[in-house]
Amino acid sequence: MSDPLYYRTASALSRELEAKKISSLELVRAVIERTRAVDGTVGAFISFDEDDALARARASDARREGGEALGPLDGIPVGIKDILAVEGQPLTCASRMLGDFVSPYDATAIGKLKAAGAIPWGRLNMDEFAMGSSTENSSVKTTANPWNTDCIPGGSSGGSAACVAAGEAPLTLGSDTGGSIRQPAALCGVVGMKPTYGLVSRYGLVAFASSLDQVGPFAHTVEDAAILLQAVAGYDRRDSTSYKTDIPDYRAALQENRGPWKLGIPSEYFGEGLDPEVEKAVRAAIDFYRKEGCEIVEVSLPHTEYAVGVYYIIATAEASSNLARYDGIRYTHRSSEATDAIDLYFRSRAEGFGEEVKRRVILGTYVLSSGYYDAYYLKAQKVRTLIRGDFLKAYNQVDALLTPTTPAPAFRKGEKTDDPLRMYLSDIYTIGANLAGIPGISIPCGFSGDGLPIGLQILGRPYQEADLFAIARRFEEAHDYHAKHPGL
Ligand code: GLN
Repeated sequence: MSDPLYYRTASALSRELEAKKISSLELVRAVIERTRAVDGTVGAFISFDEDDALARARASDARREGGEALGPLDGIPVGIKDILAVEGQPLTCASRMLGDFVSPYDATAIGKLKAAGAIPWGRLNMDEFAMGSSTENSSVKTTANPWNTDCIPGGSSGGSAACVAAGEAPLTLGSDTGGSIRQPAALCGVVGMKPTYGLVSRYGLVAFASSLDQVGPFAHTVEDAAILLQAVAGYDRRDSTSYKTDIPDYRAALQENRGPWKLGIPSEYFGEGLDPEVEKAVRAAIDFYRKEGCEIVEVSLPHTEYAVGVYYIIATAEASSNLARYDGIRYTHRSSEATDAIDLYFRSRAEGFGEEVKRRVILGTYVLSSGYYDAYYLKAQKVRTLIRGDFLKAYNQVDALLTPTTPAPAFRKGEKTDDPLRMYLSDIYTIGANLAGIPGISIPCGFSGDGLPIGLQILGRPYQEADLFAIARRFEEAHDYHAKHPGL
């Protein structure tokens, strides 16, 4: 029996749209109905605009009727993390600070989606300003993990991951600064991909830590993630860190690049703190690749132990400077109690930001302050170079690395909220890729005894997303974890 419309992959939906077996209007109606039915429980959305989605669906159907369909995404709804600007839609970053701000323009990634005929669908929940690993730092609500609603979906793009897992959109976009796409993808049993730094424009992505932030796709399958990345990747002169490179045809590469590959297992990613069920599932995946004829070699990334520390210096430093723009004068939240201009800054920021955001701003201001800059920020930058060097050295030897995405399956709501350090450690395996700027993907590779999803992370060479997709697809073809859905 085939999946209901709302659970079909984007590539299947695309074929059905093309064959006129379904219309975009039917699809969008099914997604709206599904969202209305389950989002009270899941809480993936902060808001959605049904009329806008329906109007875009009708326009897509009209294009197709006229023989002018725009490609594989035409007529397909794509959920959007509430950190990417969509013209005329609210943009809140799940923060009181942005309140009822409405974006006057489209992010480059959104403009590209629209040009491909895709339908931006709703505003997805997240940790405030993307700072967090569970969506519990959202000022709006905590999203539930669709596999067990007492558990968190991961973060910060928890809404984007839960949305796909719950069938509220076949595809979504998120952002990943230290793991915010791969970690929630792993915990919700979907595919999530962080591209190489510079591959997707950051124009219109609200800045958290500019040297780490990347936009990327969530999907049910590797092929779907490839289709979505294809649509949003590419040079943009409005992002000074955007990289000029030809974007290959990722879907074609899935067929062409069949391996076998040389795959590295970084010993530092299998140490203390790794949950035995996660380790077992990831080791089984490694065995699978071995049986497929891939050469598996142990490699070392010796500076791994510094990654979390370095990240929380660099990310907070950049955040403290990026978030200085929220001053109570521009954007929306302005304290009504203020007595003078300085008081206005203090009060507006004190009222507008949540606890975790304040903690980051304070940490970041501290590590950048005179007298501490050299000891913290500068040193962290040097260690960052060593961490990148570890990866590049490993890639002289292997095509890609296989690791767990997270140390453990989804934890329960509230379990780590009082202990920021424990929360920070849930990104231990994902942060290295951001510091090094390399691409990474998380794909479903098993379930815990409690029925919670487990993710396999594959890290690749800079700008070799095509290889990463091919390697991931090889596992997916031989397993059905990605095809399972939670019983909502
Ligand atoms: N969880 C990490 C943090 O809190 C990463 C967040 C992200 O990738 N946006 O900073």
